[in-house]
Amino acid sequence: MPDLPGLPVPELLALDRRHVWHPYGPMPGRVDPLVVESASGVRLRTSSGDLVDGMSSWWSAIHGYNHPVLNEAAREQLGRMSHVMFGGLTHEPAVRLAKLLVDMSPKGLEHVFLADSGSVSVEVAVKMCLQYWRSLGRGGKQRLLTWRGGYHGDTWQPMSVCDPEGGMHELWSGVLPRQVFVDAPPAGYEEAYAEQLRAAIERHADELAAVIVEPVVQGAGGMRFHSPAYLRVLREACDAHDVLLVFDEIATGFGRTGALFAAEHAAVTPDVMCVGKALTGGYLTMAATLCTPRVAEGISRGEVPVLAHGPTFMGNPLAASVACASIGLLLGQDWLAEVKRIEAGLREGLAPARELPGVQDVRVLGAIGVVQLDHEVDMRAATQAAVREGVWLRPFRDLVYTMPPYVTGDEDVARIARAVSAAAQEG
Ligand SMILES: *Cc1c(COP(=O)(O)O)cnc(C)c1O
Repeated sequence: MPDLPGLPVPELLALDRRHVWHPYGPMPGRVDPLVVESASGVRLRTSSGDLVDGMSSWWSAIHGYNHPVLNEAAREQLGRMSHVMFGGLTHEPAVRLAKLLVDMSPKGLEHVFLADSGSVSVEVAVKMCLQYWRSLGRGGKQRLLTWRGGYHGDTWQPMSVCDPEGGMHELWSGVLPRQVFVDAPPAGYEEAYAEQLRAAIERHADELAAVIVEPVVQGAGGMRFHSPAYLRVLREACDAHDVLLVFDEIATGFGRTGALFAAEHAAVTPDVMCVGKALTGGYLTMAATLCTPRVAEGISRGEVPVLAHGPTFMGNPLAASVACASIGLLLGQDWLAEVKRIEAGLREGLAPARELPGVQDVRVLGAIGVVQLDHEVDMRAATQAAVREGVWLRPFRDLVYTMPPYVTGDEDVARIARAVSAAAQEG
């Protein structure tokens, strides 16, 4: 047997190809991934040299890698316990995290279900909503309404509200629960579209348990931005027609869009809210579903007064400790100034990309920069172009995009912008 820890890169890649499944990938893999040896600050040390991370490991590593404060939180908790079951037991990290989340999230969300991934937190959100209506004797309300272009995860209920066309889950259209879809939201406010939202909610009110959307930024479904005013339209229509409102803030949460949570752009409180990704600063897998007392009390009034959900690793103390430390780091600094600084850097750095052939749109919001092409990106060529600039990017569909860690310095932001442009040009 080979000595795995010291495995030479070619052998490691050969074993990877043969045995290891990667996200959204075939088996065996067709494109060799880069091997990451370690990561520190905003840099990944890889088999292709040191790369500035333009992806925050899919929105999560907001404070960068190998952060002394997060390391210490993990180490300290490791010395106590990495995990205990959450049934019948509780512990300070989970309780502290729940309190932090309640205090920092939109007013009115008071109860926290700790889940082990974003997709599971969306499953829990859907279960809460369906069970709420069932408990009130209105079990016919069991469908969801969403707008096209969304992404909510890869398990079954989340898949059913992802963009039904051109997305990753089109294959399953005949198998998934059939939800109600309206058009994707336009970027700016249009009264006709608001009217379409109101009409769809009214028309389907009897069968709708909830409306679920990503507020302000649609992430993996197409990196589209929309007017926060639509969130108020949804809130009012949901209230008027007895429909719950779920915000999936798994990508947008913890400052990414220039508000702590995107819901704040519209001063709207949803009935249920999912957070994940940056929750632990990218260290460990954890997500949470928050809800209002109305939802929790409704469920408790039912014939089955409990929420039958309880992942084995629910409330994991190690993840909860790091999450508390990550939130502490975020709130202990002028995070908004950092996000605005990156926003300004991306605006300036990406402006020239507008003139590139094949570029359809360039948009920046908070610490998110997007270049949309008029064709499907050649992922391999685009990735290689970024790597040549010393940057790690992961383009998809017709999009080359970045959401850097908030600690990314100005020079590195400029470098990321150059890499996005190079990837857009060569992809
Ligand atoms: C990533 C994401 C999810 C799924 O989270 P996982 O932790 O990957 O299961 C759900 N919703 C949104 C908006 C996301 O960005």
